Amino acid sequence: MAINYSSTRGGENNVTASMAILKGLAADGGLFMPDHIPVLDCSLEELSHKTYQEVAYAVMKQFLTDFTEEELKTCIERAYDSKFDTEEIAPLVKADGAYYLELFHGSTIAFKDMALSILPHLMTVSAKKNHAENTIVILTATSGDTGKAAMAGFADVEGTRIIVFYPKDGVSRVQELQMLTQKGANTSVVGISGNFDDAQSGVKKIFGDKEFAKELAGRGYQLSSANSINIGRLVPQVVYYVYAYAKLLENGEIENGEKINVTVPTGNFGNILAAYFAKQMGVPIDKLICASNDNKVLYDFFKTGVYDKNRPFILTSSPSMDILISSNLERLIYLSTGCDAEETKKRMEELSKDGKYSVTGEMRARMADFVGGYADQAANAAEIKRLYDETGYMIDTHTGVASCVYHNYVKETGDTKKTVIASTASPYKFSRSVMEAIFGSEEGKGEFELIDEMEKASGVKIPQAIEEIRKAEIRHNRQCKPEEMEKTVSEILQ
Ligand SMILES: *Cc1c(COP(=O)(O)O)cnc(C)c1O
Repeated sequence: MAINYSSTRGGENNVTASMAILKGLAADGGLFMPDHIPVLDCSLEELSHKTYQEVAYAVMKQFLTDFTEEELKTCIERAYDSKFDTEEIAPLVKADGAYYLELFHGSTIAFKDMALSILPHLMTVSAKKNHAENTIVILTATSGDTGKAAMAGFADVEGTRIIVFYPKDGVSRVQELQMLTQKGANTSVVGISGNFDDAQSGVKKIFGDKEFAKELAGRGYQLSSANSINIGRLVPQVVYYVYAYAKLLENGEIENGEKINVTVPTGNFGNILAAYFAKQMGVPIDKLICASNDNKVLYDFFKTGVYDKNRPFILTSSPSMDILISSNLERLIYLSTGCDAEETKKRMEELSKDGKYSVTGEMRARMADFVGGYADQAANAAEIKRLYDETGYMIDTHTGVASCVYHNYVKETGDTKKTVIASTASPYKFSRSVMEAIFGSEEGKGEFELIDEMEKASGVKIPQAIEEIRKAEIRHNRQCKPEEMEKTVSEILQ
């Protein structure tokens, strides 16, 4: 059955999947949502014997109904190939009783690769299908990982340009080096003197500026997004939750139909929302445990029903989750109102005006599958050390937050269902924080010295993505203030 997409704020209705991907954000500032969430048309038992690519097709064809079989299969084959350093694409590692779903085996060693290795292909097919003639300019705000993964995907893709804004002092050294050394004539990187929320708000403002869009169209450009506000990011992320369940089944870790919990280290609420979509598609998931760092706006929201971003923005050792405005929560709000765009719009306007909004008891009841938890930096570091000392398994600072929240949840509730923990980045990407968590202060040691020590301590080979930046030359040095973002885009596109 064909699925169409509508804005969570009611201003745009019944657009095709390819059009929603091409646009990224709806014209009224809302996010595109499918008119219903499709259910899987084959059993998990059947899927348990399939490859990642086959599962990807089974899931994505249900959402992207205006893509032909050939178009979608070609996108999948091009995305999930030898760019990943394991044929499994997303391996499950059992450690200390939990299942860590390693989503960092792609070319930039964070989970963003799972969707961003396919998005450029979905985008170019979408452009063709809709006879788009302008060059597509991907505008992206990044808390550190999306930027590199998006550039790796879009570099030198014909008919596209990509501009990435990142918080100059809010990313790890490895993350920054990965971005600043990015090749490709169509890529631009800009450090802003602000935090991720400033970057994301700036990008959304540019999307909302109709005059600017006209001016750009005159120059032959049209904007789109690689952030998880794009439905073309969200749909590929559903795949690995289906795949994880299928693999647990195949490995005999669970019985067919057995319910599992999922724990996701969360920032913009994209990854965990994808898990919720997987549940709606029929995967037996019980609780979705939403793990926050010190920026625990989501924890407070699930606890009280009030979303309030009026608080200090804290820079932590898990920078990709340093976010106070979780964009994708808008999609859950929309679902919890029974898809009422007016009710959703009202709250999003309150959020932009007062920085807060609240939800009704009925809406909260509809979100009861979600449980919030958080781990501060000390608890996170202690969990990384504990797991390493007890099992030898090394996790990154984002996965550390999730692992800590998961164990606290089990202690508090006694809920011992088997649990998949989304492992969102390689520890190599946050080498200093991880090494210091385990071995104490590493002051005075260089980034690459620590990386070499990490290889010895973890027994995991240094990934290609790290070797690449060891000697690569810096190619980008642009910086601006948050209020100069539009002007900067205009200059880049001269
Ligand atoms: C982006 C990111 C997150 C947060 O994911 P959301 O979908 O924004 O909630 C967590 N961990 C890492 C390593 C990331 O890059």
